[in-house]
Amino acid sequence: MTTLQAGAATDVGRVRQINEDRYLAEEPLYAVADGVGGHQAGEVAAQTAVDTMRSEFTEHTAKGLVDAALAANQAVWQLAQDNAEKRGMGTTLTAVALVVEDGEDQLALANVGDSRAYLLQQGELVQLTEDHSLVEELVRDGRITPEEAKVHPQRSIITRALGMEPAIEVDCWKLIPYRGDRILLCSDGLTNELSNDRIASVLRKLADPQEAAGDLVRQARAEGGGDNITVVVIDVVDDGGRAEKASAELADEPRPKAPTPAPVSTGDQDVRAVQSSTTTATATRPRPAAATPPGPARPRRLTWRVLAFVVLVVAVFAAVILSVAWYARSAYFVGVDGERVAIYRGRPGGLLWFDPTLQERKPLTLADVLPVHHGELQAGKEQASKAAADRYVNRLRQESEERRAVTTTTTLAP
Ligand code: MN
Repeated sequence: MTTLQAGAATDVGRVRQINEDRYLAEEPLYAVADGVGGHQAGEVAAQTAVDTMRSEFTEHTAKGLVDAALAANQAVWQLAQDNAEKRGMGTTLTAVALVVEDGEDQLALANVGDSRAYLLQQGELVQLTEDHSLVEELVRDGRITPEEAKVHPQRSIITRALGMEPAIEVDCWKLIPYRGDRILLCSDGLTNELSNDRIASVLRKLADPQEAAGDLVRQARAEGGGDNITVVVIDVVDDGGRAEKASAELADEPRPKAPTPAPVSTGDQDVRAVQSSTTTATATRPRPAAATPPGPARPRRLTWRVLAFVVLVVAVFAAVILSVAWYARSAYFVGVDGERVAIYRGRPGGLLWFDPTLQERKPLTLADVLPVHHGELQAGKEQASKAAADRYVNRLRQESEERRAVTTTTTLAP
């Protein structure tokens, strides 16, 4: 059994004389309506829409919600036709209702205009509705950026509203409610003043839906209150164990991504068959994010894996460098330093950035050494150790002394 708990607040703001926003928060139906039209017609349009929703939402399905919105459109349209001074009045309508679809509790969402519905799930705020406004269409067409849209002079112009025409398209979504989910319905008086980050921060901080709604309205007023501000916060306080069941399944399955923010596919043939001018869409959230500790463990484990991989790569790289350094520095060679025979540590000519270093200059000049060895000395004669290098130099000295002795003897012989 799904149980909802809601809080709501509205304020005229600091600029307007009258509040043309209306809301409805009577389980299982919640709605925000932002009326437009002079001579208090906006007020009438919003009130008529909310009243009609309340009386016409009798069939608790997504189709029932869309039907109620269509009835509200008819009611406002008829009223405008019957009263010359109310011609051209209209209202936005964003509504959410607890319905039964396919034998289970779901939330149905309907939208016309630029009031919005958001979902806060696992601390993440996602806008569910798509604004039917001029600037939003310009953004969608890539003609202006979202930043430009925020300050666009025509940002209050809506391209679709209830009561302006006898037939209307209603966007519709269905959501699976999970305990801990929080739905926010609001008029543009809130979103014009507060960024999504600030809205999210209030919704995360204040657990009581009434306090959260009140604080959002207070903050939007403090930021300027350029328009009427209306907020409805709906909490899913019980979902009949659905979140726990999904959490248990999650233990064996990859964690799903965050909910789909916009309508993903047109569905619900029933609704479309009844009213051909009605668009319906279904945003099927894959699964709830887990409410228990096993949920967040997954992305963290992924992070650890990445970290472990980086550590491994660094370790392998360091090992290679150390091996090269060890190889480069482990050997000795005998060469020449100026005229003198000398012992070097390292590889002849160096290896990578390890240059050989002079270890010892021997009391032996290149001229003392037999010419047959000059080539190998100039290239660097490699030796396995310092002792081997010493022995090699001694051999060179002995050879040259023996040769000198022979030469001397030969000279002395005659
Ligand atoms: Mn407004």
